Amino acid sequence: MQSKLPSIGTSIFTVMSQLALKHNAINLGQGFPDFPMSETLINSVSEAMQEGGNQYAHTYGLPLLRERLAEKINFLYQTTIHPETEITITPGGTYAIFNAFSTIIQQGDEVIIFEPAYDSYIPNITFNGGVVVPIALEFPNYTIPWDKVIAAITKKTKAILVNTPHNPTGVVMTKQDLLQLQEIVLTNNLYLISDEVYEHLIYDNKQHETAMKYPDLFARSFVCFSFGKTYHCTGWKLGYCVAPAALMKEYRKVHQFNAFSCDTPKQLGIAKYMNNKEAYLTLGNMYQEKRDYLRSLLAGTQFKYIPSSGSYFESYSYEAISDEADTIFAERLVKDFGIAVIPMSAFYQNATDHKVIRLCFAKKMETLEAAAACLSKI
Ligand code: PMP
Ligand code: GLN
Repeated sequence: MQSKLPSIGTSIFTVMSQLALKHNAINLGQGFPDFPMSETLINSVSEAMQEGGNQYAHTYGLPLLRERLAEKINFLYQTTIHPETEITITPGGTYAIFNAFSTIIQQGDEVIIFEPAYDSYIPNITFNGGVVVPIALEFPNYTIPWDKVIAAITKKTKAILVNTPHNPTGVVMTKQDLLQLQEIVLTNNLYLISDEVYEHLIYDNKQHETAMKYPDLFARSFVCFSFGKTYHCTGWKLGYCVAPAALMKEYRKVHQFNAFSCDTPKQLGIAKYMNNKEAYLTLGNMYQEKRDYLRSLLAGTQFKYIPSSGSYFESYSYEAISDEADTIFAERLVKDFGIAVIPMSAFYQNATDHKVIRLCFAKKMETLEAAAACLSKI
């Protein structure tokens, strides 16, 4: 068969998690928490099943859940979002993004993304007939070079994708970034896909700058979220997209014949649980403690952190330890030292290697201690 994605192999997350299993290694590679999620939320979903909430949900998502989300958005960002026309529940954040690309990309359209990039964006764009225009974030601070963005725009540029807080670097976009982005999007009639799955995982007193807070920008945006990150249940694969009604109308046409609808009991369970604001308001402090703990555990080693202010991740330079390629170094860590990490070059189309690895700190303190013990032996 002729492949539609000839140059795409197995996701680095799958590769590293399999290696971790094979070598019985501690897994700071793939991003997922290893601590339990809320018992109350689990019970809420169980009750929904017991009570018979087991048939198809509304194709746009359970109305009650969309109402709860609109209320939450209003509470957090003082923005009015209409639950009937502007929110669609999706089977995960990755799908929410894919569906947005499928909605807007016509054959040959160019889409600007920033590298290092979360691994699904490039195949998503290619699969939909688009052309990826990658722009490297400036090493080592991973800031956005806006002049290069402006220079990369052509008549064929259709959209730009941003991710804040950013996976894999943990960099958080500022208000200035959003204003610059807004100007570029409006001047060039682009669409924005804004991946905000880590909206609550933000540290050092920084604020999440959502595209929804900027009305002119939001008018051309698809903003994507994941319940998996907010409620420590990445395996639930439930998320949502927020977009203005005119864009959402087209988005829903694609969704309708793709997933059609999402898991009903989880939607019922989450809708009931969402009055618990603490569950998401405490996440920043909780994860910042983990980030800082890992930093302190590695302070005596030659690994040097490159500051993250959000997400599950912090990257570390191993330049002082080895000049091996990051893929080789990561392989050695898992095989010889019992610890799985992600080599940063996996997030670049051309495998740019700055001798940096990504560590996931969304783990129990004892896991971080065990991981640091492995890393300290190097
Ligand atoms: N975007 C980024 C940057 C992510 O890290 C993730 C988590 N894998 C997602 C989107 C999608 O999350 P989900 O598991 O809900 O598909
Ligand atoms: N978001 C997670 C990461 O970046 C994993 C996602 C996945 O395995 N597809 O590690």
